[in-house]
Amino acid sequence: MPAARASIKDFFPPDGMPQRIYCDRCKGHLDLSFGDFDEVVSDIHIAISGLPTLICEPCGTSYLPDRSRFAVIELHRQAMTKNVGAVSVTRRKQTRTFAFTKVPFLYDADDYDYIPGLRRTHDEGFLTPVFFSRDVLLKYDAHPSYRVTFASRTYGNIEQGDDFRIPFGINRNARVVMWLGDIARLPENEQFYLRSENVPSDHSIGSEFYDGQIECVFTKRSPEDQLFEQRSQFLEACFHRFGQKVAHLEQEVLDLAVSVRRPVVDTRAERRHIADALNKIYLESLDNNALGVLLSQAGHDASKLGSLKRLQKLLETLGTSTDIAAAMTPLYVLYDLRVAYSHLGSAESEEERIASICQRLGLDAKADLLSVYDVLVSRLQSCFKALVAVTQTS
Ligand SMILES: [Zn+2]
Repeated sequence: MPAARASIKDFFPPDGMPQRIYCDRCKGHLDLSFGDFDEVVSDIHIAISGLPTLICEPCGTSYLPDRSRFAVIELHRQAMTKNVGAVSVTRRKQTRTFAFTKVPFLYDADDYDYIPGLRRTHDEGFLTPVFFSRDVLLKYDAHPSYRVTFASRTYGNIEQGDDFRIPFGINRNARVVMWLGDIARLPENEQFYLRSENVPSDHSIGSEFYDGQIECVFTKRSPEDQLFEQRSQFLEACFHRFGQKVAHLEQEVLDLAVSVRRPVVDTRAERRHIADALNKIYLESLDNNALGVLLSQAGHDASKLGSLKRLQKLLETLGTSTDIAAAMTPLYVLYDLRVAYSHLGSAESEEERIASICQRLGLDAKADLLSVYDVLVSRLQSCFKALVAVTQTS
């Protein structure tokens, strides 16, 4: 059954305004999909299967991209000319490729044509999204001459010295997305490696990646995003200072970094989950081995020290006037939080530990998880900022 009757006038983009990627209802980012259009439009029954459509996944609203609107208008015009009351077509997917690289990447030229904001009159196809498994980030992070830096939890750059910097996003399906034109500037062997991790398009561009790259805006970022960026900046500062990465990215860290959210309830399970997740992202990702090597190069024995103490000692070798142990307090608090919330000690010591955590965060000893979380996230941000300053200036 065709849907509600519409007027052909409604298919012309309103006031000459192009369709944007944002949902009018909830302001969410739209994904491209291919749907079946079936409507009576100004007395003509028009059916198109596989019509590019923009869908808001969270609220379920759908929109037609400008080129799909024009396809409806054109079919209506043809039917009027032929004087027929119905028209039914199946849209064939285009198989167009762009001549940026010889490496046969999987991508969908429909993304370039139908996702709002990507088409340009020059460098045709440059902004075609190409999708990868997330392993590409882990590989580049593990590679000594590349670095993966984050501007938020889902938007960042792969960098190599001053030679290149390629922006990437992580979309809602946990895929990595980059622009075809950027990829084509890489050395060919890197392109072949990327091709091995290349997956078909899911037509969903990471939201912050899109906002930063296409709209040139940074959406107001959550405290968790800002914290992850601060961590990234600290690791960058260490890399420049010590010539080595002092932390590594692992699948689990990346999963947790993307998924960790402010808790909404204060339960034992939630306490444990939050403390575990923050520990894995911010403490356990420190590279104990690399810290040990750097310390022994500086003439210190690190064999009996855990990674936080190693980091503290390493920063102290910089001869700064800053009290490093005090600056690192939020990291030690985070460590204690996990011990306390995982009930790794006796009940009395657990109570004492929580009281000490709250006292160091400037909170009442009976503060709930939400208060502890908010203050800790904010203190961790300040902590990384302070450590960046120490690393860069001393
Ligand atoms: Zn919506």
